[in-house]
Amino acid sequence: MYMQRMLQNTSWIDENREDYFIGLVLERETPQRAAYDRRQMFTGPDDVRDYLATGQTVNYDDDWYAQIRDGKVAHQQAIKRRIVQQRQDAARVLCDCGHYSAHPMNTSRGTSCPNCYDEMSE
Ligand SMILES: [Zn+2]
Repeated sequence: MYMQRMLQNTSWIDENREDYFIGLVLERETPQRAAYDRRQMFTGPDDVRDYLATGQTVNYDDDWYAQIRDGKVAHQQAIKRRIVQQRQDAARVLCDCGHYSAHPMNTSRGTSCPNCYDEMSE
């Protein structure tokens, strides 16, 4: 894994002090935290690594942005999201009303996006 840490401006930076930050996570671990995150309680560094490998983030401090993640998994998830978005965009067609829609509707004046349906049906 290559660890990344969130900054207050919400951007993620590479973090090579992996053991240090996992140690911080383990120091503040409580049954309540585990329950709040809906996960098993961390009992050692490997538990934290396994959890991060699922794409989750973990707080190492109380600040909302004090989180770490597995940068490689996060990158793969971002690529997957982009592919899904591209597929959705590719499914949209240009209607006669001038808008793109994944569900073009037939009207008396040609195809229409749902928003223009009433106008195009007159
Ligand atoms: Zn339209």
